[in-house]
Amino acid sequence: MLRFASLASGSGGNCLVAEASDATCATRVLVDCGLNLTDTERRLARVGLAPRDIDAILVTHEHGDHAGCVFDFAAAHGVAVYITHGSLAGLEAEGKQIEGVKIVPISSRQAFFVDGIQVQPFTVPHDAREPVQYVVSDGAAKLGVLTDIGTPTEHVRQVLSGLDALVLECNYDRDMLWSGAYPKWLKERIGGPLGHLDNRDSARLLAALDRSRLKHVIGAHLSQQNNKPELARAALARAMNCEESWIGLATQDEGFGWRELV
Ligand SMILES: [Zn+2]
Ligand SMILES: [Zn+2]
Repeated sequence: MLRFASLASGSGGNCLVAEASDATCATRVLVDCGLNLTDTERRLARVGLAPRDIDAILVTHEHGDHAGCVFDFAAAHGVAVYITHGSLAGLEAEGKQIEGVKIVPISSRQAFFVDGIQVQPFTVPHDAREPVQYVVSDGAAKLGVLTDIGTPTEHVRQVLSGLDALVLECNYDRDMLWSGAYPKWLKERIGGPLGHLDNRDSARLLAALDRSRLKHVIGAHLSQQNNKPELARAALARAMNCEESWIGLATQDEGFGWRELV
C-alpha cells in the first residue's frame, strides 16, 4: 500500500511524507524538509510518526522552503539525503553543514529505490541549480509531486500521465499577483518561466494529462498573498470535470492528512 501526507506546503516550508508498506515492512521518505527541526518533529507526530520512522529525505532543490532543514534533520536522526549534485552545490554554497550526513547523489533522470519505494526524479524549469521533482511508487500505485516549476513542459506532462495521485502546485492567481503589493522584480520572478505555476497553468497541465487512474488531486504551494484556496480548487475541479469538494488542498499550517492508495 502507498499512502502519503503533507506536514506543510507553501513558501513558509514544504514537507511531504510518503510510505510504502506490505505485511512485513514499511519504507518512508520525506520529500523536502523546509520547516525547522522542532516543527518537523512535532508535525511528524501529528501524522503518527517519529523521526526514526523516516528512511530518507528526497530533496527537490536548494531553496530554503524545501531544503532549509534537510541536513539538520538528517544529522539529528541519521537519515540519508538523496539530492542532485546541483542542489547539493547550492546548499554548500550557502554554507549548510553537511558533516556527518549520509549523502546519496542522484541523477536527475535516473530512477532508484529507497528500500520498498521506487523513486523517479524528473527535471523541471525553476530558478535553482539542478531542480527535480519526484514520482514515488510502491510498485503498484504512483504518486507524483510537482511544485516549484515556472513552465509546464512536455517532459513533465509525460512523467505525470497515468498517475494514481498528484500533488500539484497552484502558486498564485495571475490577477492577484499582478495587482498585489509585491515589488515588480518579485512579481516577474514568480510569474516568469523559471518561477511558479499559477492556477490557470496548473489546470491546463492537469487537463492535458492522462487522468484515467487519478484518485487524488491536491493543490499545493498556494501563496497566502497571491491566491485563494477557492480559486485554486475551482481551477483544478474544472480541469478534472469533478465536484470542487473532491479536490484536496495542502495548507501551510496543516499540510494535509494521510491519503491512501491501496
Ligand atoms: Zn517552494
Ligand atoms: Zn523553489
